[in-house]
Amino acid sequence: MKLRHILLVITLACFTVSLTAQTRRRSAPAPGTTAPKLEDLPKRPLDTIPTSDPETKIILFSNNTWSYYRPSLERLDSLPVYTQHWDTTGVFAYRDIAYNDLPPVVELKLVDDLTQFKSPVTGKVLSKYGPRRRRNHNGVDIPLRPGEPVYATFDGRVRYAKYNTGGYGNLVIVRHRNGLETWNAHLSKLNVKPNDYVKAGQVIGFSGNTGRSRGPHLHYEMRYQDQTFDPEFIVDFETGQLKYQTFALEKSFFNIHSRASEILEEEDEYDLPLLTSNDSGDSTSQDILDQIAEAQQKEKKAAVQQKQAGISSSGAIYHTIKSGDMLGKLAIRYGVTIDQICRLNGITRNTVLRLGKKLRIK
Ligand SMILES: [Zn+2]
Repeated sequence: MKLRHILLVITLACFTVSLTAQTRRRSAPAPGTTAPKLEDLPKRPLDTIPTSDPETKIILFSNNTWSYYRPSLERLDSLPVYTQHWDTTGVFAYRDIAYNDLPPVVELKLVDDLTQFKSPVTGKVLSKYGPRRRRNHNGVDIPLRPGEPVYATFDGRVRYAKYNTGGYGNLVIVRHRNGLETWNAHLSKLNVKPNDYVKAGQVIGFSGNTGRSRGPHLHYEMRYQDQTFDPEFIVDFETGQLKYQTFALEKSFFNIHSRASEILEEEDEYDLPLLTSNDSGDSTSQDILDQIAEAQQKEKKAAVQQKQAGISSSGAIYHTIKSGDMLGKLAIRYGVTIDQICRLNGITRNTVLRLGKKLRIK
């Protein structure tokens, strides 16, 4: 019944368009004007075709064109994906579903057309998904200059948008129609609230350095029922392109420990001091990567210089006793304890420090 109403509205709208077009055609076309294109001709809806998504239909028009028809965003409130396991306060929403309960494969229909997708940001992935030190890096890290817009990847509803103390900093979690969730972390600013509906490409926040992060970057995760998998399966972040229209998400792709702890985002291994202090505001992600390479080069150089100055690359630090040096003073200066210095050098607190003697501090 409702669909019939909508079709009636569309028919009326097309009729109006067709009238306008006819009026326009009565006046003689200016010399040099090209002939109207097929899709510009008056059209009238002929039929609707269901799609695999019950909320999406295809409308066929009389001029051989078609378009998708979707209900208004408000009607989405009744969809179970936006009502069940809906928690706007905690990061995990499927605690009652165990890893073993998940099906072997989930078919995720990602988009009908490419207007329903936008890469959250575009840039090189500096740190990939997968094992990092003793834990798993549950997403990808893309360095950015601070304040760059971060977009909703697909249409969806904001499930979580606030500061997270588990390391993510300002975090926006968007749940999409197929149940997939995208997590956007370390944002400088949030641009959405929980329960907001968002369209793909809508700005949900701005890149930053909040939480357990050592330089402005987007930490981005994809989760299905709390379980993470590699987002690079789906998005090419460097080109900003979607890799599949429908993705077969296999259970074996999940990291079984995704939900092990609320403290999830490990501090990144790289330090990006140059970006926060010297960025003029228009560097690309390639510039950022170049800056990182430059910083690493500088660090290497400094290590060599330190070695030459008597500080070994193993981190051992030595100090040559000068007039006025006392164990207490040295301990404060190097941030160690007196006992530590004594232990490393086989001396006691009462040992007389001879001028020129080399003490190991660390
Ligand atoms: Zn990360």
